[in-house]
Amino acid sequence: MGIPALAMPGFPRLRDAYDVVILGGGHAGLAAALKTGLLGYTALLIDRGPKYSRSYYAPKMDNIPGFPGGISGHKLLDLQIAALREVESSVTYVTPATATGLTRLSSGEYEAAFGWLKRSHTARGRAAVLALGVVDRMPVIGGKIDPIFPWANFGIVDFCVLCDGHTLPDRSVGVLGNDAYAVRTAIDLLHFRPKSVEILTLGRPLLEGSPDDERSELLRQLAERGVTHVDAEVAGFDEIRERRFGVKFADGSRRVYDKGFSALGWYDQHRDLPRSLGCRIDSEGYVVTDEDCRAIADPDGGPIPGLYCIGDLRNGWNQIPEAWATAERAIIHAYGYYL
Ligand SMILES: Cc1cc2nc3c(=O)[nH]c(=O)nc-3n(C[C@H](O)[C@H](O)[C@H](O)COP(=O)(O)OP(=O)(O)OC[C@H]3O[C@@H](n4cnc5c(N)ncnc54)[C@H](O)[C@@H]3O)c2cc1C
Repeated sequence: MGIPALAMPGFPRLRDAYDVVILGGGHAGLAAALKTGLLGYTALLIDRGPKYSRSYYAPKMDNIPGFPGGISGHKLLDLQIAALREVESSVTYVTPATATGLTRLSSGEYEAAFGWLKRSHTARGRAAVLALGVVDRMPVIGGKIDPIFPWANFGIVDFCVLCDGHTLPDRSVGVLGNDAYAVRTAIDLLHFRPKSVEILTLGRPLLEGSPDDERSELLRQLAERGVTHVDAEVAGFDEIRERRFGVKFADGSRRVYDKGFSALGWYDQHRDLPRSLGCRIDSEGYVVTDEDCRAIADPDGGPIPGLYCIGDLRNGWNQIPEAWATAERAIIHAYGYYL
């Protein structure tokens, strides 16, 4: 597509049109941009910044091939950004930039709208990739979400069963949450043979709002598996120096666990933009795609031409190898059909 544009963070020169526009530059979007460049096509990658990636605060990830001993999410993002230099003549990477809209034009192209350097911009792509990820809900303690951050940054409080369950054998675990998702997570964690699991409901009734039959079945499972719960309001955390999850309750009592686990679900699943394009959203809030990561239209069920969804935003397993695999599938499909 003509003369390539400058590519790396800083002040890249924007073009009106690219082969692919990619919204979101976490692990999935960065991989999609790299693949597009390697295949000899141009991409615009629009990202708010690495610190908005889910993994940015993951101190040690053990399932990333090539990194025995683990790697932090922060470091892995840096490495993926560095890899874009190999294709910098083809990929325009704008960050911090916020995607505000994506429209399918009558020509079949997509027009991305985004804010960057305090101005509004648009750019077209022959194909478009949604890679906006999802955002974890944090426990609100005294009206703030930051009290948990130090424990998360040290890997004392985890967020993902599939990522961190293997760190739990013989440890006592305090699970934050009160709904059916939190209860199911607590039960799932038992697979990893922790010393004990206790649910901390943050002052809310356990299984509040669950239908009666689901509630009684989950309560039965908790009792059978020895999972206890504490319903008092949480006032704060301590014992970070001891690398433990100390929990202070509003009634003055306190408890200490080897690890914490946040099972509060998502704060934001970035559904508005896919909805505006007519994407189907599943019952858990994820964008439905086919095996090539083509976004499926709601209600007709067919793929939306030229539109892909990859990484955590699509229905699948929220893991980095899957973010990469979905990026590969989407861009290779676009290469075959739209580029
Ligand atoms: C604490 C923790 C530990 C984890 N540990 C592991 C692990 O050990 N192994 C593993 O495989 N996975 C792990 N994960 C999961 C992993 O982080 C995600 O699967 C992965 O980040 C998904 O990649 P993604 O690109 O889909 O989303 P993200 O990496 O979250 O990236 C989404 C990107 O979209 C951007 N964005 C959002 N909205 C906009 C907008 N409007 N405009 C522009 N940009 C936007 C953000 O800036 C962000 O960069 C962990 C997650 C957490 C929270």
